[in-house]
Amino acid sequence: MSKSCTNLIEQIKNEIIDHKTIRPKDNVPQSFISSRMSAISFSGIRRSFDLAQKIPGLISLGLGEPDFDTPLPIREAAKVALDKGDTHYTPNAGYIELRKTIAKKLELENNITTNPEQDIVVTVGGAEALFLTCQVLVSPGDEVLVSDPAFVNYEPCIRAAGGVPVFVPLDEKLNFHFNAETIKAKITPKTKGIIINSPHNPTGHVLNRKDLEDIAALAIKYNLFVISDEVYEKIIYSPAKHFSIASLPNMFERTITICSFSKSYAMSGWRIGYAAGDHSIIEQITKLQQFCGIHAPSFAQRAAEAALNNAGEWLKDMVTEYNARRDFLVKAVNEIPGLSAVTPDGAFYLFVNAKSFGRPSQEIADHILNDGKVAVVAGSALGKHSEGYLRLCYTVPVPKLKEAVMRIKAALAKLR
Ligand code: PMP
Repeated sequence: MSKSCTNLIEQIKNEIIDHKTIRPKDNVPQSFISSRMSAISFSGIRRSFDLAQKIPGLISLGLGEPDFDTPLPIREAAKVALDKGDTHYTPNAGYIELRKTIAKKLELENNITTNPEQDIVVTVGGAEALFLTCQVLVSPGDEVLVSDPAFVNYEPCIRAAGGVPVFVPLDEKLNFHFNAETIKAKITPKTKGIIINSPHNPTGHVLNRKDLEDIAALAIKYNLFVISDEVYEKIIYSPAKHFSIASLPNMFERTITICSFSKSYAMSGWRIGYAAGDHSIIEQITKLQQFCGIHAPSFAQRAAEAALNNAGEWLKDMVTEYNARRDFLVKAVNEIPGLSAVTPDGAFYLFVNAKSFGRPSQEIADHILNDGKVAVVAGSALGKHSEGYLRLCYTVPVPKLKEAVMRIKAALAKLR
């Protein structure tokens, strides 16, 4: 890569850093900022997103969001809602029509029986559902078990509630399996709950029924709550199947199931998700939502209802496309000297072992960005025990993936 291009990337990086950290410090006296904030850092993934926005010709395998447009029937439903004047406040828990449609879906697809009047709250994406759930369930000092690596939001959500995330390292040799035995080893008298995520971001690992039965047995024995993040439930590759822990005996009352429209229906910008669980917990989440977001956007809720009613065929095509990309990328990455990756069963991420380079993963990611103009996420941004890995999202079509792989290979050849 030319010197001028490297300089441009450096300049853009500096601008982003200026904007994110220096300007707020200049404008707002540090003393105003609450002590809680010192426990929370910016997400390393947003950094990758910000860079991708600004560098010409860059291929982003960084941010985990679908590249598909939201299917037409969903967009049409939002337009109809807007034209009908669906632009006012809705109930805090979301329109009852949407909650009833979600209840039907949970019954048919997740084997979870809910009362839509009380057991479901529609939220501003899965992210808000996670944040509010942690606020409701976690008290200061409570320990919550989380996999390492994990989705970047879990740690800040737990910390913002005053809790302590306790990380359970995942072992690549065990296919990144979040298993009951390793979880059990981390349980202490302070452990209050556990966050599970299947299909898993960033490893793509899928927990099967037996895995979930084992985790459920632990949760019951030690009286733990379970936050089950199922936002990738639809992006799963045969023969793997999605299974919801809340459908197991005696688990509904201790589980909050979190789902989203962002990934399944390519609706990341619409900001619609939901939490389902026992009415006493959902009531508290709804109460808190009343005092922050108030509710999810009105016309987006109507669009979400249309998504559940209309998007069957589209979903099949989308998963077939992700499956083809996964197959291509797994093979191509394993052919790059120094890299290896196990085949994921779900989501749209490949968690790639780059330990043979003997360098910090952020340094490798930065080199790939500077030299090859491909954005990837460093494993260190996803967990302390995940140093040496890179996360690649296959949210671009195969021809672009091919180009990205060529550039990564060429860049890494210079590091060896
Ligand atoms: N959970 C996981 C595991 C995720 O990867 C994400 C988004 N990347 C979310 C929740 C939140 O998604 P959203 O708020 O768009 O529904």
